[in-house]
Amino acid sequence: MILAYIVVSIFGLILGSFLGVCIYRLPKDESIIRPASHCTSCNKPLKWFDNIPIISFILLKGKCRYCKKPISIGNLLVELISGVLAVYLFWCCGLGLDFLLGMIFFSSLIVASFIDIKYQFIPDSVSVGALLLIFVIKAGQSIGFCGDILQKPIISSLAGAIFGGGLVYLVIIIFNFILFDVVATIYKKRGKVFYLLKKFDNEEEASCMGLGDVTLMALIGSFLGIQGVLITFIAAPFLGSIIGLVILVTKKDHIIPYGPFLSAAALVVFIWQDQIVAAVSNYLYGISGF
Ligand SMILES: [Zn+2]
Repeated sequence: MILAYIVVSIFGLILGSFLGVCIYRLPKDESIIRPASHCTSCNKPLKWFDNIPIISFILLKGKCRYCKKPISIGNLLVELISGVLAVYLFWCCGLGLDFLLGMIFFSSLIVASFIDIKYQFIPDSVSVGALLLIFVIKAGQSIGFCGDILQKPIISSLAGAIFGGGLVYLVIIIFNFILFDVVATIYKKRGKVFYLLKKFDNEEEASCMGLGDVTLMALIGSFLGIQGVLITFIAAPFLGSIIGLVILVTKKDHIIPYGPFLSAAALVVFIWQDQIVAAVSNYLYGISGF
């Protein structure tokens, strides 16, 4: 059994190393397969023994063998997160379709989050690609499924995706309407321009959520279902306000990517959904006096 955990953790680390390549290359529209791994500073191809997750980083003391430029610490972080996730998923659902689903889902969240932090956008190839893969696997799980049609994996997956994406889309429409139609009209009539409009050049920039978050929430909904994606949506601002405040103070940057908070909240919901639902319903029973 210990051997199985070791194999799974090595798989997670190697996958993490590949995810690091995706994070670096996808936003630049580069192929994720060719060329082989190379130093991002001097472009020298890496020997296999310089490309072992974590171990190579430690042996090379975090620097390129050739040009001695530091290797991104982000890659190490991605490998570690991926390794821990693989072990956790194996521990809770063993090896099977659920493990595969979980790895696809969380891998795409890792890639989306790190790209969002760096570039403030989420490539559709990541979120839509993972969404389609999840639909295919859920459709496979639905074959031979007996029970209520609404409980069929593909049906609840589709419903979760539409609900999650629709929820964020609605928020963006309402936010833009209030900021750019209602507020702007009032202030322009008084001969002033709302100060927020000066700071931001366009609607896309001003909105805390972008269209990338719509597809990301559709992806989260396809995996966690309607209830899970709803809790994620409510929980994300709590995580966001804490970490966002730190970013605002330290970086003095007004653009805070929202994808990482949605992803972190999705992970929290995946692990503690039952406990969260139990705690909330206990609380509601408490205040209603039953
Ligand atoms: Zn180098």
